[in-house]
Parts: sequence; structure tokens; C-alpha cells
Amino acid sequence: MAYTISDDCTMCGACAAECPESCISEGDTKYMIDTAKCTECGSCAQVCPVDACLAPK
Ligand code: SF4
Ligand code: SF4
Repeated sequence: MAYTISDDCTMCGACAAECPESCISEGDTKYMIDTAKCTECGSCAQVCPVDACLAPK
């Protein structure tokens, strides 16, 4: 399981800068999380200004 980024993403880049695994990259319309590398640490969710980083359900 991994965190995911919703369509609410404004592409601010804050999550990518915070991710200890460097597994968040810029996509075409939103940032993307490499699900194979995400450790579910939650750091991205803590810094996202629009709550677009979602914990796995
Ligand atoms: S939960 Fe942690 S490891 Fe996963 S994408 Fe967010 S900051 Fe990176
Ligand atoms: S911190 Fe939130 S709004 Fe900013 S790039 Fe990441 S997911 Fe998108």
C-alpha cells in the first residue's frame, strides 16, 4: 500500500521536497507517488496545503 495524490493537487511541490524516500515526482496534471517506494510515513500529507496526499484506505 502507498499514499496517493488526488486531483486537488496544485503542483506546489511541497510533498516532493519532504518525502524521505524521494518517491514523489511531477506528473502532467498533478504530482505522482511511486507506490513501490512509499513507506507510508505520512510526511507528504503533513505538508500538503490542500490535503491532496491521501493515506491508503
Ligand atoms: S507517505 Fe512518506 S514515503 Fe510515502 S510518498 Fe508520502 S512522504 Fe513519501
Ligand atoms: S504538497 Fe499537495 S498540492 Fe503540493 S504538489 Fe504535493 S500533493 Fe500537490
